[in-house]
Order: sequence, then structure tokens, then C-alpha cells
Amino acid sequence: MTLAVYPGTFDPITRGHTDIVRRSLGLFDRLILAVAPNPRKEPLLPLADRVALAQTAMKDFPTVAVEPFEELLVDYVRRRGAQAIVRGLRAVSDFEHEFQMALLNRKIDDRLETVFLMPSEEYSYLTSSLVKELALFDGDLDPFLIPEAAARLRRAYHRDPT
Ligand code: ADP
Repeated sequence: MTLAVYPGTFDPITRGHTDIVRRSLGLFDRLILAVAPNPRKEPLLPLADRVALAQTAMKDFPTVAVEPFEELLVDYVRRRGAQAIVRGLRAVSDFEHEFQMALLNRKIDDRLETVFLMPSEEYSYLTSSLVKELALFDGDLDPFLIPEAAARLRRAYHRDPT
């Protein structure tokens, strides 16, 4: 049984992230989508909300578990018995940071591989930051987010009193 961990901030989870999950499941039997607190990135949504939205987005994927993690990624991956880390690569701009992280993680544990997957073209420019910008200015979020995530962002920006 192969298992991979897909870590990220998921602030909030987008259809681009889901596209990476779908592709990962072609390679691994099971996947843990691991949501990091990442206080340095100053996420808009609290960790519990990011986890809940990711769980909703993953409801049609029975082999995907969503969990928060608050330790060094390498330790978490080892503790969960996973064979690999999955990350998405949208463009060359993602490369340098991802390359550094993958090599650093491998320095800590030489057996730990990071697998990079490219999303479908329509999501290759999609970032959680862009989606937040759209929400701030009342743009249409449906192409990028599940309805629950769109509603949560609108609420965060006080655009939706529900
Ligand atoms: P992080 O703060 O760790 O970068 P993110 O939630 O922004 O967390 O992203 C998690 C992973 O998903 C990263 O590898 C990122 O490159 C990837 N990712 C984010 N958006 C997309 C997208 N639209 N298509 C493909 N991969 C993506």
C-alpha cells in the first residue's frame, strides 16, 4: 500500500490543489492532505477552517485523509509511514523554493523523495493569494473554489453576512 503526504497551507483549498490530489491518486494508493499552521505566511483563515474546507473538498476521495500537522514535515511523514511528499509545480516561479525544500528534506532523510506534479493548464496560474484578491473585490470564485470555500472567503471579507 503506497502512501504520500501532500502538505500545504491550503488558505483556502482551491480546485488547483484538488487537481494535484486527483493526479497523485494515479501514483499512490492513499494520500494525506496535511494542513500546516504556517503562521509566517499569516493565513487568512484559522487552521480549523482550512482543515474543514479541505475535508469538504475531499469528500469524493475516500482514499484521502485530511489532517493538521504541527511538526517538522520530515518527522510527520516518517511518523505516518509515508513514502513520499507530493507538491504541485505551477510555473518556473515555484521551482526555486520547491527545489530548496525538497533538497533540505532529503538532507534530513535521504530516503524521502518529493514528487512534483503539474496541474491541468487551467489551474496553472491559480494561487490561494489570487483567489483572496478576487474575493476582496467580489470577483466570481466558482471556477476556482468549492462553494463552501467561496462563502467562507466572502465572510472573511465581510461581503456575506450569512
Ligand atoms: P505552501 O504554503 O506550502 O506553498 P499552498 O497551499 O500554497 O502551500 O500550496 C501547497 C502546494 O500546492 C504547493 O506545492 C503549491 O505549489 C501547490 N499548488 C498550489 N496551487 C496550485 C495549483 N493551482 N496547481 C498546482 N499546484 C498548486
